[in-house]
Amino acid sequence: MRYEGKIYRPPSEADALIVQATIGCSWNHCTYCDMYREKTFRVRELADTLADMEAAAAAAGDHVEKLFVADGDALVLPTDHWLALLAAARRLFPNLRRVSSYAMARNVLEKSDDELRRLREAGLSLLYVGPESGDDPTLKRIAKGDDAAAHVEAARRAHAAGMELSVIALLGIAGERSDEHARATADLVTKMNPAYFAALTVTVVPGTPLHTLERRGRFAVPEVPELLRELRTMVDLARPSDAMFRTNHASNYLPLGGRLPRDRARIVEVIDAALAGKIRLRGEHARGL
Ligand code: SF4
Repeated sequence: MRYEGKIYRPPSEADALIVQATIGCSWNHCTYCDMYREKTFRVRELADTLADMEAAAAAAGDHVEKLFVADGDALVLPTDHWLALLAAARRLFPNLRRVSSYAMARNVLEKSDDELRRLREAGLSLLYVGPESGDDPTLKRIAKGDDAAAHVEAARRAHAAGMELSVIALLGIAGERSDEHARATADLVTKMNPAYFAALTVTVVPGTPLHTLERRGRFAVPEVPELLRELRTMVDLARPSDAMFRTNHASNYLPLGGRLPRDRARIVEVIDAALAGKIRLRGEHARGL
């Protein structure tokens, strides 16, 4: 497989075949994100992506059950481009169970209901959407590009097309608006009603606008107990109908898992135990982006 630059994928796509259909992120403005800063966004030649898929199929096509289409916000691709990829995936990988990609809310909103439905029918079944927060002042401050209402509408339209969502929240991203961020994010998760909900912890990466703000004293990551309280509030107040919940990303201090709402009480208990110092947290040296 030929990859241009560094490749990112959600932890749950560790066993997926990753094909690169876009280079970089079409937005590339989020203040905390350094994933694609060195890349200028462009759509990769369809023939190159298809050639990579052919090569992967020749090597181990029967083993591919999951396909993740990279890079950032790959849903931005024109619908015809997506449909060609999805048709090739169905032809080349007979045991394919799911195709997924990162998506911004605007990528969903820019497609018509009919386009979304055709993409779903062709096999695109899961979108990873990272609003990070449901708090509009925070979304504005981090230059997320879409507000909470846009995320709710994008979720409604993706669900209407039959797609599942994985929603990602970012602990600590709101700085001193920690409590507002946690409550509004719980509310957003309730309204987006994802099948998967993951919380990551913000890491201030040198070279990002967030790092500049931190150096100027205009942003500080909350202390660990505050981050745990954000997590507790999100778990306690979010009301998805049935979501797989995970904090297994390497950035987190406390790896957790379960279903919400079914396991809410147990997860909250574990967070309380961590807040009381009864559970050892992941050390700084073991944390990653
Ligand atoms: S939309 Fe995603 S990939 Fe693009 S800048 Fe924001 S966080 Fe980074």
